[in-house]
Amino acid sequence: MISNSLLEIAKQQKTELGEISYNQLPRLCEALLEHGTQSNDIATHAVSFTLSGLSARYFGEVSLPMLQLQVVTTLPMVCQRCFEALPMPLEQTYMYALCDTPSEALLADDEVEWLGLDASDIHALVEDELLMALPITVLHPAQCVEVAAQSSSKPNPFAVLQALKQRPS
Ligand SMILES: [Zn+2]
Repeated sequence: MISNSLLEIAKQQKTELGEISYNQLPRLCEALLEHGTQSNDIATHAVSFTLSGLSARYFGEVSLPMLQLQVVTTLPMVCQRCFEALPMPLEQTYMYALCDTPSEALLADDEVEWLGLDASDIHALVEDELLMALPITVLHPAQCVEVAAQSSSKPNPFAVLQALKQRPS
């Protein structure tokens, strides 16, 4: 059971780890269904997370409690051309500073996001990050990208490139 607020985890530099079944993440399930993933495929997936408190860090004049989140999962995507499964492994690390009003120094830091001091829901945090990580267009890199490019009446090389790229971290 996770009973600590995120602020406590940060301040006490604790580590919480666990696994969340996709079935417990309704917004993610909905997005995957819209993408075309079968519900029985979604049900078999889970995400592992590690949330750790780091040493407080200065942003400008203020020192803020820090958290690091690592998520590891495989997103059950499907190819938008052949509709076969196209699982996408995802392993990402995020850093957060906790505060109620972010300073300019914090907003200017590309590596650190901010979370309100009352944030308490690890599931929601993990779900938010997975939703952000969902690729927009998914095609098998070799055969399906090529066919899609050739069969399109107006070939769009940028769309193809976009399909090849994962979300820039
Ligand atoms: Zn395909």
